[in-house]
Amino acid sequence: MAFHGAGRQTVCGDLFPGSELGHKYFCVNSSCSAGGGAAVPQPYSNPASEVPSPAEMEPDRPIGYGAFGVVWSVTDPRDGRKVALKKMPNVFQNLVSCKRVFRELRMLCFFKHDNVLSALDILQPPQIDCFEEIYVITELMQSDLHKVIVSPQPLTTDHIKVFLYQILRGLKYLHSAGILHRDIKPGNLLVNSNCLLKICDFGLARVEEPDPSRHMTQEVVTQYYRAPEVLMGCRHYGSAIDVWSVGCIFAELLGRRILFQAQSPIQQLDLITDLLGTPPLSALASACEGARAHILRGPHKPPSLSVLYMLSDGATHEAVHLLCRMLVFDPAKRISGSDALSHPYLDEGRLRYHTCMCQCCYSVPSGRVYTRDFEPVAERPFSHSYENSLLSVWQGKELIHRFITEHQQGKRVPLCINPQSAAFKTFIRWSSS
Ligand SMILES: [Zn+2]
Repeated sequence: MAFHGAGRQTVCGDLFPGSELGHKYFCVNSSCSAGGGAAVPQPYSNPASEVPSPAEMEPDRPIGYGAFGVVWSVTDPRDGRKVALKKMPNVFQNLVSCKRVFRELRMLCFFKHDNVLSALDILQPPQIDCFEEIYVITELMQSDLHKVIVSPQPLTTDHIKVFLYQILRGLKYLHSAGILHRDIKPGNLLVNSNCLLKICDFGLARVEEPDPSRHMTQEVVTQYYRAPEVLMGCRHYGSAIDVWSVGCIFAELLGRRILFQAQSPIQQLDLITDLLGTPPLSALASACEGARAHILRGPHKPPSLSVLYMLSDGATHEAVHLLCRMLVFDPAKRISGSDALSHPYLDEGRLRYHTCMCQCCYSVPSGRVYTRDFEPVAERPFSHSYENSLLSVWQGKELIHRFITEHQQGKRVPLCINPQSAAFKTFIRWSSS
């Protein structure tokens, strides 16, 4: 890996050769004159506090390995803040991976919503001949909903309401931008200790396909959270697939176990029909022949939705009512993310979120000043028209290089990776495995 800057920027490892700082920081300013590495660390989780949180005392280290990349916890030398650094690997392997990564990168830079993870920065790329990897910096979140669900820590109804509210709030924003996430699962819902939640991992996300005759891939969504229309081989699907996943997660939050935990896609479909009953023929219209035959061949099952009340004490009438609106077999009849937010079950979650967690409302001595729009939509749809004109890997490389360079213009001193840092060797090992 070469991390040589152009022009005034130098090899970043030379910034603090042999010094403690040179070893400490994994990412360094690419400008020699900035000297940002010596900046006083700013607490990450609580700006008002002067005591660094335990997370800030920790050295740079890997924190996860997602579907499409390694994620590290690193210190931003410009302000001492702990941030997440994600390496997007194998970008230029072929045209498909090139398009996929460029799409994810553009999405991360497009998002402006508190419940959707976005790019804080992108590391400065080397000159185009050496440009092989892309590194994105995002906010660092301490945990994810999967870890929370399997942990012994208590999950109260208040927690569930505020989590579900934020998932739907983020989803409404994504869908309003015309984006399908296509892999909503607890592990892709990052949370911090204040219960702030952000949807992440857009490696499978794509723009909605308005033309129902266009085929879409069925290689989407982790099986437990996969909507019945995708399980049944439907060639065209929409944002309802994400709402199904949220329904599964809602039930998992209540019961603290996976709702439909099957060994195979067929068994997955069987577990769904065990709960919802045999779907009407109208709901099978877009299913592939094999899936339709499988359902019609089996015994007629009555719905057994009352078992949802046994998930936990938190499974009240209101909770089960909302759950049953999300877990609807026919995507055309499933509630939308936006309409789900109007369900009374989410009123308390909304109030809690906007009383003490959000960025959109603020407090004055006389009380709280609330925003006009509690669940904002995207300013414009996400555009992917550039993808059709992307015809070669080299052209993609040039486009991405230009995109990153333009994205950085007028912003803070660009960062690049410090090969002198203590974490660098481990990073090489992790990122090449
Ligand atoms: Zn607010």
